[in-house]
Amino acid sequence: MPLPGKDCREVLQFFEEIQLITGHDVAGRPTYDELALCHDPLERVFMHGEWQEGLSPTTGLTKSEQAQFIAFAAEIEHWRGRQIFTLPVDRSKMDPDALSLDTITMGEWMARKAFDCAPLLWQVDYSCRDDFGGNLHEVSAWAGIHYFASRTGEAGNAEHETVLTWPSGNGWLVDQLKTTTSSSILPNQLIYQIAEQTNGVEVLSYDTQLHEVTRYTARAVVCALPRFIAQRIIPGLAPISGLEYSPWVVTNLTLDELPPSPGVLPAWDNVIYGSSALGYVNAGHQSLSSRPIETVITHYDALCGQPPAKLREWMLTQTHDQWVQRSLQSLMAPHPDLAEHVKSADIWLWGHGMIRPKPGFLWGKERQLMQQHRPPIYFAHSDMSGMSLFEEAYTRGVNTAETLHQAL
Ligand SMILES: Cc1cc2nc3c(=O)[nH]c(=O)nc-3n(C[C@H](O)[C@H](O)[C@H](O)COP(=O)(O)OP(=O)(O)OC[C@H]3O[C@@H](n4cnc5c(N)ncnc54)[C@H](O)[C@@H]3O)c2cc1C
Repeated sequence: MPLPGKDCREVLQFFEEIQLITGHDVAGRPTYDELALCHDPLERVFMHGEWQEGLSPTTGLTKSEQAQFIAFAAEIEHWRGRQIFTLPVDRSKMDPDALSLDTITMGEWMARKAFDCAPLLWQVDYSCRDDFGGNLHEVSAWAGIHYFASRTGEAGNAEHETVLTWPSGNGWLVDQLKTTTSSSILPNQLIYQIAEQTNGVEVLSYDTQLHEVTRYTARAVVCALPRFIAQRIIPGLAPISGLEYSPWVVTNLTLDELPPSPGVLPAWDNVIYGSSALGYVNAGHQSLSSRPIETVITHYDALCGQPPAKLREWMLTQTHDQWVQRSLQSLMAPHPDLAEHVKSADIWLWGHGMIRPKPGFLWGKERQLMQQHRPPIYFAHSDMSGMSLFEEAYTRGVNTAETLHQAL
């Protein structure tokens, strides 16, 4: 995850508690555990037959393409300077100019600004797919600009654009959350009803290992399920129409080593220009070994461009081998010999991977409705934020716990 900005108060406090933040410099900026700060190089893009550093496809641009990149950067700087966009999303400023961006797609905004050169359109499209799982014609312009203009995190011992990463990805953060609560976590529980009773709530849970049902009664419940599930299992909960969740395919390829390819050295994030997939993250990137090592690369593919339900149906028709071939094919340009290095391939299909901030959703009625608790049932899923991000999920959890604590 990117370095959290000052508005991510809850997340910053959590990072201090788990000593990911180890202190502060004289300017008051947090200093982070060096092992979690992404090692150089952070990211690279493959174009014109070689890897170049950074994600901006800037090699071989014409004068007019260069001018568009400069004009786009100035637009973003303009928005950044107005300090409207932030995380958590709901701490952003209610500025009418910015809110009007939520009525159009990022693609429409680009067209209105005459940003039409292929490398810039590709970079913005990639960014929308990477953070929201939808392409620039599917995602709100408010979300698209937010992606570029909201990140203000700082560190005393790293550049502003650094990310925090671990070999196990954000699973590391989950492990930290579990350290104080693991004894009260019950795994393998499928909740199939949460119903309000006269004196509290009744929760029905099916144990998928023991094939037993347990009935829990509680004074109150925090429901951290995505809304598309919550509204099926909470009788009387108003269904929200038109929610869009982006389907994702994640392929973990275990390699005997990452084969060399032309251009700059392997980065943490490795993206192929022009590809409809999102490239790969190298789990071995934080290793301090100076020799090539066995590693896992995680290939991400956000399926978009068609209605998500249709894509989910299609996903179910694909075999393991077809997914592996699809990943290898998308990495063919930089790594034509990758198949020879694959020791195993693990595929995970996320049918409803991320809430998609389509136009009108972030600042429309539906999201407002989703944020309303129904005491004694309280809600805390990140889809209430309209963006699927750890910062949003964590802040929702803390704020809902505080609301509940005050209510009881
Ligand atoms: C491929 C991919 C990559 C991502 N990468 C990043 C990243 O790099 N950085 C980032 O910040 N975010 C990333 N995200 C988003 C990330 O998923 C969210 O930030 C985070 O998981 C949201 O947490 P949450 O608790 O709100 O929801 P979830 O993680 O969706 O948690 C909901 C939980 O409810 C459980 N559940 C659902 N139905 C039931 C039921 N009936 N009974 C019991 N349990 C149930 C689910 O199994 C799940 O564990 C990524 C998402 C995807 C799909």
